[in-house]
Amino acid sequence: MEKAFLVKYGEIGVKGKNRHIFEEALVRQIEHALKYVDGTFKVTRPQGRIFVEGEGFDEDEVIEALQKVFGIVWICPCYMTEDNGFDDLAREVCAAMAKKLGDKPFTFKCESRRARKNYPLDSMELSRELGGKIVEAFPNATVDVHHPQYLVETEIRERINFHWEAYKGQGGMPVGTSGRAMLLLSGGIDSPVAGYMIAKRGVCLDATYFHAPPYTSERAKQKVVDLAKQVAKYSGPINLHVVNFTDVQLAIYEKCPHDELTIIMRRYMMKIAEHFAKEDGDLGLITGESIGQVASQTMESLFVTNSVCEMPVFRPLIGFDKQEIIAISEKIGTYETSILPYEDCCTIFVAKHPVTKPRLGPIMRSERKLEEVIDDLMKEAIENTETILCK
Ligand code: ATP
Ligand code: MG
Repeated sequence: MEKAFLVKYGEIGVKGKNRHIFEEALVRQIEHALKYVDGTFKVTRPQGRIFVEGEGFDEDEVIEALQKVFGIVWICPCYMTEDNGFDDLAREVCAAMAKKLGDKPFTFKCESRRARKNYPLDSMELSRELGGKIVEAFPNATVDVHHPQYLVETEIRERINFHWEAYKGQGGMPVGTSGRAMLLLSGGIDSPVAGYMIAKRGVCLDATYFHAPPYTSERAKQKVVDLAKQVAKYSGPINLHVVNFTDVQLAIYEKCPHDELTIIMRRYMMKIAEHFAKEDGDLGLITGESIGQVASQTMESLFVTNSVCEMPVFRPLIGFDKQEIIAISEKIGTYETSILPYEDCCTIFVAKHPVTKPRLGPIMRSERKLEEVIDDLMKEAIENTETILCK
């Protein structure tokens, strides 16, 4: 009898050819997640099932790693055994349960599946017989068919597997099943959450961060690298482009009305991010914007920012309150890093009273004042970009 894990995934929408793609991507993501766990692992995909088998692992560590993989709905620590007849199976089930549950009282129900039809008991008989053996072995166990504490599931294949525990997975779609997109990642609370949410739908992430040395420090940059690494625990490796934005920002500061600084700066951020997005094969941009959160996120501001982009811009947090976003960032483990008090390149050049209802015409007129310098400055910023693989 060996310990293993049965991985259950949502099957809605993964019929036919899609199912194959979904399962292959899921296996890839599981293998990736397990690279960071002690032990050796083998992920197998017998028809309609995914198993993780291995040696020298700690069960809790494996569960924790699998709980970060999108596409998994349940993780069931299970046992794999050879078919040596029903009595032998019943003994193994009872022994495994005794080891985990001791003699505390519990309720249970047995369910069985017979994928191999030559097994002498059908699934109803197997459940009934096994239930009887469990009641015999555990004086404190009672059957509860409606709300059992433990659902003891047994599956007869070439080998037999059984389990009675299940840990909730992330749900969503395996990364790699829905194309790629470029995340504008700042050191704030919102953008890491936005990246997480899009990755959860199966999208591979690239990222761009704008910093403004010496106005922003090396620590502020490291914070963003750390955030990218935390998001990467879910999304898989992220290529983070770190753009030196200082000269672009200084030019805007020098030439444009100060109440328009933020909105103009954001338009250039989008433009540069879109440049890298095209290079990386991304089909959209992702931001952490949410309506009304700050002056640059009113409907008018979003319209003006959006107008500069050719690609679709995805804003998964658009209708969320800050508290809801914070709750997700705490859950995914980015909050503690996000609230570290390092300066952000946007906060350095902000005006006291930024426009809250910008209009595209006047903003574009202000941008004309940059005409002579901006192309060179953007080109320079792009050429001097450092790309860091975060995993
Ligand atoms: P966040 O908490 O994600 O920083 P925020 O509430 O501070 O968001 P803004 O500063 O207006 O809001 O930024 C809105 C979005 O623009 C961010 O969610 C992010 O996607 C992008 N962004 C802002 N600053 C940067 C930056 N320095 N580098 C990359 N993207 C940025
Ligand atoms: Mg910010």
